[in-house]
Amino acid sequence: MGRLFVDELQYIDGARRAGRGAELSVLDPATGKVVAAGAGAAADDVADAVAGAQRAFRGWSRTTPAARAEVLTRAAALMAGRAEEFVAAESAQTGKPLRLARQFDVPGSIDNVAFFAGAARVLEGKAAAEYDGEHTSYVRREALGVVGSIAPWNYPLQMAVWKVAPAIAAGNAVVLKPAENTPLTTLLLAEVLTAAGLPDGVFNVVTGTGPEAGEALVGDPRVVMTSFTGSTAVGRRVMEVAARTGKRVHLELGGKAPFVVFDDADVEAAAQGAVAASLINSGQDCTAATRAYVQRPLFEAFVARTAELMAGVRVGPPADPATDLGPLVSVRQRERVAAVVERAVAAGARVVTGGFAPTSAADGTDLSAGAFYAPTLLVDAAQDSEVVQEEVFGPVLVALPFGTDDEGLELANDTPYGLAASAWTRDVFRSMRASAEIQAGCVWINDHVPIVSEMPHGGVKASGSGKDMSAYSLEEYTAVKHVMLERTGVARKEWHRTVFS
Ligand code: NAD
Repeated sequence: MGRLFVDELQYIDGARRAGRGAELSVLDPATGKVVAAGAGAAADDVADAVAGAQRAFRGWSRTTPAARAEVLTRAAALMAGRAEEFVAAESAQTGKPLRLARQFDVPGSIDNVAFFAGAARVLEGKAAAEYDGEHTSYVRREALGVVGSIAPWNYPLQMAVWKVAPAIAAGNAVVLKPAENTPLTTLLLAEVLTAAGLPDGVFNVVTGTGPEAGEALVGDPRVVMTSFTGSTAVGRRVMEVAARTGKRVHLELGGKAPFVVFDDADVEAAAQGAVAASLINSGQDCTAATRAYVQRPLFEAFVARTAELMAGVRVGPPADPATDLGPLVSVRQRERVAAVVERAVAAGARVVTGGFAPTSAADGTDLSAGAFYAPTLLVDAAQDSEVVQEEVFGPVLVALPFGTDDEGLELANDTPYGLAASAWTRDVFRSMRASAEIQAGCVWINDHVPIVSEMPHGGVKASGSGKDMSAYSLEEYTAVKHVMLERTGVARKEWHRTVFS
């Protein structure tokens, strides 16, 4: 793929433009080559985008739900028409296999836009009624204003869509900062929304670094809500900056999903599921299976089969249809992952398979310039060790044995995170107990990773608060207002006794 969007990494008031900040480069992680470059957003660019969004909000918030639904419906159709452009750009900037972008990222994003087109027309609340006999009460559900959104690099398009679609469906205006290394599909999304009839300024993209553009956006007093997806550490910084202007904060943060296999589980299904769920997107997935707790009778069989399946996963260039696993997002990320594995081994863990950076694919293709890391399975790691407690964000799974059901569930909850989890069992009582007791925003039974636009996504504990996707997400981007009409016309009301004796 050639260079794209040279010098125009911002989208403000309905048009692409150059930023006034430091130069940024978007690199293809499979080759290290530059695919796009341009000036990043400075605080002034963010301020311009917020001002434009504020102007656009007045008109957009007064449109009907049907009018907003129409724009989003057209946008979903336009995205589908340009799907291959989205696929190519998403793969070029993240290194994810074309197959993954084509089958997961892009169709999932289109479906999400289509879902919020429908959801825009279903704004629910309590019925208007005379709750105290003297007043008629009703609830208005209103847009908030300018929402400042910040997205990560792992699923750039999906994360942007999860934030933008519900926000604009509810009548807000948005300024979104993509990760500075992956802005391309977010810029394409902005173009598509404009072509679909979204008024200029309702959706703006400021491509810049976190400390500069990100903090300018979170700190702007005109921004009424910050919606952030990223790491727990940065999420906490965002909360601090947002506190200065006291705005609403929605945080989708890191995860460390447990994968709990009980001794009645189908071990073949569990091993297949563990490989797919730990390696999806090269493990750079906030819900990825990272800790497999396996009840002792199945432990050896699970480890052997998982290692066998992992060793058969083909690492290679993203464009090759035979590739199962692409590179990590950057050489820096690969080095981070390799360092965690090295420290785990130094602390007593054993590598069953993987644990190295491949320099060539199975067919001999040279991978040495890319950020590749082999699918890795570790055992013998301590529960309190870094590799079990902290996000690795790479293709690394740790398997640990457990004894009783109580112990398995306790271990599953024993990290600071609470985003997603799965339990593997054919016993309905065990599955119900696990789904109730595991502290997470989502618990899968006998699967791990599938998501649907209709259902909420979002964590508890250090994984954040608030929901993406589903009607719950639409609620996050609205304020509920109580309107109370006095209906008796009496001057001295009953309740005035509190003042007039
Ligand atoms: P990150 O926290 O480093 O960056 C996320 C975004 O925040 C980027 O746009 C970055 O530029 C920006 N940022 C950095 N410093 C900032 C600051 N001081 N102020 C404002 N913005 C700032 O995360 P990442 O490495 O891009 O993404 C991976 C992380 O995202 C993982 O922890 C992963 O679990 C998490 N994630 C969570 C979800 C979820 O739904 N819970 C989904 C995807 C990714």
